[in-house]
Amino acid sequence: MPRIPVKVVEWSDVVAWAKRLAEVIKASGWRPDVVVAIARGGYVPARLLCDFLGISDLLSIQVVHWPGAAQVAEKAYIKYGLGQADLAGKNVLVMDDIVDTGDSVLLAKEAVEKCCSPKAVKTAALQVITSATKFMPDYYAVEVKEWYWYQYPWTALEDMESFILRILREEKRPLWSLDDLSAKFVEYYGEELLEKRYTYFRLALERLKENGLLKPHDCGGVQCLKQNL
Ligand code: ADP
Repeated sequence: MPRIPVKVVEWSDVVAWAKRLAEVIKASGWRPDVVVAIARGGYVPARLLCDFLGISDLLSIQVVHWPGAAQVAEKAYIKYGLGQADLAGKNVLVMDDIVDTGDSVLLAKEAVEKCCSPKAVKTAALQVITSATKFMPDYYAVEVKEWYWYQYPWTALEDMESFILRILREEKRPLWSLDDLSAKFVEYYGEELLEKRYTYFRLALERLKENGLLKPHDCGGVQCLKQNL
């Protein structure tokens, strides 16, 4: 078992889930006039949902809660709100990619209710982790019972960077060959992630080098990486 359970989500999954979610919403008989995407995870799902539901009004609010992959901050907070948007008489749907703790989606819903006088506010997500959340969204496409970190296509590079950094910080080992780092990565996060996102693994290593956190090093004629944290 890897230390952190990760599941890779493909673009085709995202599109299928957004389509399913649109069907669930249509079947409920309630129609949103405006969709509010919770930045940043809700952007792509909300845009797809607008397409499947034929909605043209899409706004955004930014909530910060998970600063790095699989690392939660103490308290969710609203970094950017909706300002003075006038939502009087409108049905508003607040949308995120996943409901995990439930904090972001609840905070965003309350902020929309307070700021902008909507007629009604409902919530939606592609996925909901029912064993983790204290708040159930009104609509979702997929119920997840066990906690995983879902590696969505829109966070592939930043997740990789966070995942590698976590290994470097926890292992405190000065020199890494590519093989050693790959093996450790599989130990931490499982084989699926490295196999399906190998291009991003290499891109993340490049970015860590650009930022000076890893430096190319000669290990007796073999190229390796020296960590500089
Ligand atoms: P919510 O309030 O919707 O439950 P959280 O506050 O728990 O959301 O998380 C905020 C954001 O962090 C999510 O919208 C998502 O982008 C990211 N996130 C949280 N948990 C996970 C997870 N298990 N897998 C992938 N991304 C996650």
